[in-house]
Amino acid sequence: MKCQYRFCEAELPDGLNGNSRYCDYSCYYNEKKERSRETYAKRNETLTEIRRVESLLRICHQEFRDKPFNAEVLTAKNMNWQVITSSVTIDGKSYRVVGKYAYILFDNNTLLIIKLN
Ligand SMILES: [Zn+2]
Repeated sequence: MKCQYRFCEAELPDGLNGNSRYCDYSCYYNEKKERSRETYAKRNETLTEIRRVESLLRICHQEFRDKPFNAEVLTAKNMNWQVITSSVTIDGKSYRVVGKYAYILFDNNTLLIIKLN
């Protein structure tokens, strides 16, 4: 079995203390550090994308207010339709929430954005 520290991967000697997956504490520690760095980078990336989408919704909301508009407008601005922070039901309809804004996509491909309080 190889050491699980990604930059080491040394072959572990047989009989090394039971089920140890690392050469020593420093390999264990360094791998742990790499993982938390990755987790942090990923979280940061997600937050940045949420803010970007929220800002697209803000711009369109300022332009169209409470009038539904063609969803292509958002698509053209490189909207990420996967991003959602929660959902909310208003008047029996389910809206997708991104930060302070919620939107609903209608069958005719128009979109309505509302600002949450
Ligand atoms: Zn190692």
